[in-house]
Amino acid sequence: MRDEAIDLCGQINFTRTDAMPLLERDAQFRFACAGCGNCCRGREDIVLSGYDLWRIAARLRLPPQIVARGYCRSSIGRVSHLPVLRLAPVKENRNNCPFLTENHCAIHEAEPLVCALYPLAQEISRAGEVHYFLQPTGCGGQVIEARVQDYLARYDVPAREAIDVRWAQTCMALEDTVERLEEVLSPVLVRRMQAKLWQALYFGYDYAQDYLPQLEANLQTLDTELRKLTEYQKKRNDSSK
Ligand code: SF4
Ligand code: SF4
Repeated sequence: MRDEAIDLCGQINFTRTDAMPLLERDAQFRFACAGCGNCCRGREDIVLSGYDLWRIAARLRLPPQIVARGYCRSSIGRVSHLPVLRLAPVKENRNNCPFLTENHCAIHEAEPLVCALYPLAQEISRAGEVHYFLQPTGCGGQVIEARVQDYLARYDVPAREAIDVRWAQTCMALEDTVERLEEVLSPVLVRRMQAKLWQALYFGYDYAQDYLPQLEANLQTLDTELRKLTEYQKKRNDSSK
């Protein structure tokens, strides 16, 4: 799957249809699974949030940027224009997720949200409302039936929900900012802006410190940095008149 086909929300051509209604938290749902592990193979759409990367970094006790370099593929989203980081399947090993070892997830307790939810998926509105829906898996095997809130609780998804909302709302707001800045900044400054976005959203984190305060501090720094880039561009425009 090409980079352009993937953005922060996964596959950009994905549309939730009437066949995938939003589920109430006390609703029952069912799916079939044979436990083959294939949903951890050949996947190009396991997009990580900054919090996902921080959790994996803490699990591996490595700086986030080293984890990203070692296990992920990075791009700039065609729709969002924001950094997009996703797990990179290992071609030499059956296209397995880099963390798949003998049908088990080696980072189970730090699984990315996409994996923890599967086959459910999450939808967050601009207002911060969180909904879940069931993705079609097309798999056979043992039928598993669960209540949405119980299924989410088994991997502590409710405990991280507030951070996931903050992340989603941050990205939605930044999409607008970046779109506006791309219209005024030179290509060189756009690349500088992207480097600052990577730093603020993914790399500028200490895995030994709590995630959320670092995100808030990084966003403040980013705001200052983006303002500086805008002023620098304005000065250059003025001096060339
Ligand atoms: S959901 Fe499907 S692909 Fe994933 S482990 Fe179960 S049977 Fe295999
Ligand atoms: S991170 Fe774990 S659960 Fe997610 S695709 Fe990789 S091996 Fe599977």
